[in-house]
Amino acid sequence: MIAKRTLLLSIGALVCLPAAERARADAPAPSPPSRSTPPPSDLSRAQHERFMRLAIEQGRKNPYYPFGAVIVEPETGAIMATGTNNARANPTLHGEIVCINDYVARHGNRDWGSKMLYSTAEPCPMCMTALIFAGIGGVVFATSAFDGQKKAGMDPIRISAQDIVDATPFAKPFLLGGILSAETDRMFLERKRY
Ligand SMILES: [Zn+2]
Repeated sequence: MIAKRTLLLSIGALVCLPAAERARADAPAPSPPSRSTPPPSDLSRAQHERFMRLAIEQGRKNPYYPFGAVIVEPETGAIMATGTNNARANPTLHGEIVCINDYVARHGNRDWGSKMLYSTAEPCPMCMTALIFAGIGGVVFATSAFDGQKKAGMDPIRISAQDIVDATPFAKPFLLGGILSAETDRMFLERKRY
């Protein structure tokens, strides 16, 4: 009985602590698990399109390779990170990788499960693998690699984003393509050429 009462008193004391002290008291504990991503079916097409428009804004910053991406928190609608292809500077700097780097710089390497990445084009194997290694909750893209990108004169590696997900035993992020693809297919087709 005494032990139980002590425990209850301890809990009461914890609850009564001011927020700052509570944070200190909680400090040694591991960080709480990230909030789960809302089921993708909860996101309407209008919501997907709103986030994709932000990725398109990023893509337009590179008129030659308009690959742009944003990482969002669907639950709050917050834009957590942005990225535009900068492969002229570094071959690994695809839009998604720039976006991953921006996310880590701003928020740390954490809480990926509740985030979604929106990209103007289907992630290549490098980017899709990096996103899975991060633990991203979902990926939504517009232009497909084997239709829109090919028509725009690019020659993507013939491994789809879905192939990467299917070959991954430890994670199954949500994956959806084709959102606003009419708009992004045109953007890729009309891109400037070197
Ligand atoms: Zn890529």
